[in-house]
Amino acid sequence: MSLPIFPGSVDAAGQPATLGVMGGGQLGRMFVHAAQRLGYFTAVLDPDPQSPAGRVSHHHIQTSYSDANGLKQLASLCAAVTTEFENVPADALQALAASRPVAPGAASVAIAQNRIEEKAHFTASAGVAGVTCAPYAVIETPAQLAAVPADLLPGILKTARMGYDGKGQVRVADMAELAVAWAGLKGVPCVLEKLLPLKAECSVIVARGWDGAITGFAPQFNVHVGGILAVTAVYEGNMPLALSRRAWAATKSIASHIGYVGVLCVEFFVVDDGSADGALVVNEMAPRPHNSGHYTMDACDVSQFDLQVHAMAGLPLPQPRQHSPAIMLNLLGDVWFDAAGQPHAPDWQAVLALPGTRLHLYGKREARPGRKMGHLTITGADVASVKTVAHQAAQILSLPGMDALE
Ligand code: ADP
Ligand code: MG
Repeated sequence: MSLPIFPGSVDAAGQPATLGVMGGGQLGRMFVHAAQRLGYFTAVLDPDPQSPAGRVSHHHIQTSYSDANGLKQLASLCAAVTTEFENVPADALQALAASRPVAPGAASVAIAQNRIEEKAHFTASAGVAGVTCAPYAVIETPAQLAAVPADLLPGILKTARMGYDGKGQVRVADMAELAVAWAGLKGVPCVLEKLLPLKAECSVIVARGWDGAITGFAPQFNVHVGGILAVTAVYEGNMPLALSRRAWAATKSIASHIGYVGVLCVEFFVVDDGSADGALVVNEMAPRPHNSGHYTMDACDVSQFDLQVHAMAGLPLPQPRQHSPAIMLNLLGDVWFDAAGQPHAPDWQAVLALPGTRLHLYGKREARPGRKMGHLTITGADVASVKTVAHQAAQILSLPGMDALE
């Protein structure tokens, strides 16, 4: 199979150029939209018949991610395959890669799936830009638990695998709590990270092509509430310039070091170390587009999903241009419940009457607290008006996190 895969083309067997994605969540859905806009057919592999991406795709293969027949079907339909969540089995990507270009590759995804490997990779690559991980210890055995240095406490115990949106994490104050927490996590491999005094959080999204070329977006300023992203703000001055530059350099080196192909998001902490800007610490990476990059669909000429399509298909990777300051507000299932916990319809009429608002809902049938249901992007001619509207929208929908913006 040769690259590039041109949109709208037909292969020797008469099959239209089709791009595939492992996973059918909202990220897959927005990928499908971007691929279809360019003229590609799409195929989604996700066991859920109601999956947000499966419902809008030309093909929806409803099998588990490791089902040999499902993977065979995906490979036969698609000219190239990508992924929309990091917990897709690396073996499945490996199997697909035997016959199709797969971006990102199994080896890159495997690193992002395991915090222990991820931190080792960061130490080897981000260090080039002078950016380190939070101090941590690996805990896989009782002996390692007993040997944890006291200065890592208070800390956060995180499972090495399968954590997301703050799940699989326990805050611990001392050794006794750490032992209880590890037992509570059934003694699976974990890392204990020192609890750092955060000034802020940010992320950088890049796309790297098969030829090693890298483009990407300006660093995103992120506000998390309860371990879940609540607000992303991107405009001039959202971050000190020196920090932005270092975050970019570190992200580039993290991507290049493993020959990454596709869209990659790296999350950082800005730690209060007494300096004016604070110190940059690399937290984790996502081998796919990221929630903090959703604003790019409305505020940039090329979105993170466009770059995902371009990268996997071997098309040129344009340098995106952000044309408007933007704030993104995440819409969790909580928005569909009132203060008394009773279900209610969000006041979209009032929100959409505000200038510069763009509503994205992911087509999920059931709203549950903490579930990502959609997001709202606010763009405008200047930062002040974007902030004003974002505050108004957050108030109407009772959304948290806007108070963290200056
Ligand atoms: P997830 O995979 O769930 O996104 P993260 O490691 O990114 O896990 O943690 C979620 C959030 O918890 C972070 O965005 C940050 O707000 C907070 N957090 C995580 N680790 C630390 C730490 N070492 N010190 C302080 N806050 C942390
Ligand atoms: Mg995170």
